[in-house]
Amino acid sequence: MTILVTGGAGYVGSHTVKKLKEKGYSLVVYDNLSSGHREALEGVPFVEGDLLDGKLLSHTFCSFRVTDVIHFAGLSIVGESMLQPDKYYLNNVVGTLTLLNTMLAHKARRIIFSSSAAVYGEAEGVPILEECPRNPANIYGQTKAIVEKILEDYGKAYGLGYVSLRYFNACGADESGSIGEDHRPETHLIPLVLQTALKKREEICIFGEDYATKDGTCIRDYIHVNDLADAHLLAMEHLRSDRVSDVFNLGNGNGFSVREVINTAAEVTGTVISSETAPRRIGDPEVLVAGSAKARDILGWRPKYTELRKMIETAWQWHVKYPQGFGGRN
Ligand code: UDP
Repeated sequence: MTILVTGGAGYVGSHTVKKLKEKGYSLVVYDNLSSGHREALEGVPFVEGDLLDGKLLSHTFCSFRVTDVIHFAGLSIVGESMLQPDKYYLNNVVGTLTLLNTMLAHKARRIIFSSSAAVYGEAEGVPILEECPRNPANIYGQTKAIVEKILEDYGKAYGLGYVSLRYFNACGADESGSIGEDHRPETHLIPLVLQTALKKREEICIFGEDYATKDGTCIRDYIHVNDLADAHLLAMEHLRSDRVSDVFNLGNGNGFSVREVINTAAEVTGTVISSETAPRRIGDPEVLVAGSAKARDILGWRPKYTELRKMIETAWQWHVKYPQGFGGRN
């Protein structure tokens, strides 16, 4: 059995690939390198290709005898998705449809899908449970919600087995220091705060300090990238043994404000991190905190990183070692 990992050169993808490899799974990574890094995939079978290239995709399924898919590939910048919805619908929705149709043609019947907490939009309560309605507040979340719906329909019509994993805020890096978070451009809070600590940026902009939260800044549930990676392996085993399709939240169940993240990063790095208030970012929900009991109960998922400080420490280790990201080791 061989797993096709789309987007395996990206942040969560590469951490999952490392674990799959360590556990002896047979796999091939398929990535167009639009945001991923070839350097993150040492010694891993790799095909450089786009999801929209059905011919190459089909060829890859044949040559590697693909039986299962873990699907990370997709665009994920919320702000950009609001300005360029065409790009997001094409890559995230049409690209996924091409992948699913290729799977059916090659009788590959299991897929783990990288979904997102963004499918919920503004939370109706905290913590958010899986049965809460999908009500995305931005186009990025909308594309994830559409793919979740397509998976349900393909499950019913074609017997496709799927697990949708709704990530909350992925953060941190593998403790080996060999892979980490490197988005270009970087838009995520923790790497931007650490770049400020490294003096690569003068200050961090806080997008809104007038939310109805304890300190006025948005609250998010940060979850370590290796805990997310573990969940993919468990989800794959779940599908292989039970064939029961499902959807799971992946978060810690603890919310931290933007200010708390900045203060913790200042402690971890031993630096002063300057910040400035900026306008709210369009499409940002106020609070996103996961209820993840379902993943614990059904998948047996046990996140190892529960403290924000420890998560930021692992990210800092990577940033100090690779201040310029992949290809720029200190
Ligand atoms: N954020 C911020 N300044 C930045 C980047 C992010 O204040 O330069 C805030 C953002 O508005 C959100 C939180 O940090 O409330 C987490 O944002 P991120 O982009 O890391 O993840 P998201 O929650 O959008 O997936």
